[in-house]
Amino acid sequence: MEKGKMVYEGKAKRVYETADPEIFIQEFKDDATAFDATKKGTIQQKGVVNNKISAILFKLLESKGIETHFVKQLDDRNMLIKKVKIIPLEVTMRNIVAGGMSRLLGIKEGMVLEEPVLEYHYKDDSLHDPLINDYHARALKLASDEELDFIKKRSFEINNILKAFFDKRDLCLVDFKLEFGRSRDKILLADEISPDTCRFWDKNTQEKLDKDRFRRDMGKVEEAYHEVLKRLTA
Ligand code: 5GP
Repeated sequence: MEKGKMVYEGKAKRVYETADPEIFIQEFKDDATAFDATKKGTIQQKGVVNNKISAILFKLLESKGIETHFVKQLDDRNMLIKKVKIIPLEVTMRNIVAGGMSRLLGIKEGMVLEEPVLEYHYKDDSLHDPLINDYHARALKLASDEELDFIKKRSFEINNILKAFFDKRDLCLVDFKLEFGRSRDKILLADEISPDTCRFWDKNTQEKLDKDRFRRDMGKVEEAYHEVLKRLTA
């Protein structure tokens, strides 16, 4: 399928129209940003790796009954997706304390949570994606009660599936961010699932294998992304 007009350009991806009004192409870039785009850089081959990792994970989730926007991988950097209207709510699922939760509550990174923690963040970089709750989401008319219930249930199911999948590959799924979109009468999992949007720690060495290597200038960023892909395809 050919790319038509570009309809969206974000920090890590571009989205294009196709001849089919219900189908878009999502292209993954090598551009990397952090801290609401105040830190900028490039991670060589990131787009290729994240496209492949996202395709593997969307296929896995689809096989377990989770509906996603994924249609198929087109080539190295592009995937076909269903057209959705993104709900401006970032859902964060946490299994181990890190990053934002560590800062917010003054808890040391690494504490294993007895049960997963779900957070909503209002998707707005200029406000630094603030933490909100169900009441804010309803007051701001981001989603209805019914939609929030569905998104919550889905997010826990996705966490269970992904946690077990990564565990078999010696990776701890520390936390991750999901975005959902409306497509006609359905809510589909959208965006991407990759080392840009998840934290992965090696199960044995606790080595970080995700975007924190870029955020925190830890080096070996490309290697970490490739290592995650290698473990998923081994
Ligand atoms: P935190 O709130 O600790 O910064 O992030 C929690 C998890 O969600 C991390 O895995 C992080 O990568 C992901 N995440 C949260 N917000 C964003 C965002 O705006 N962009 C991306 N790519 N990932 C995010």
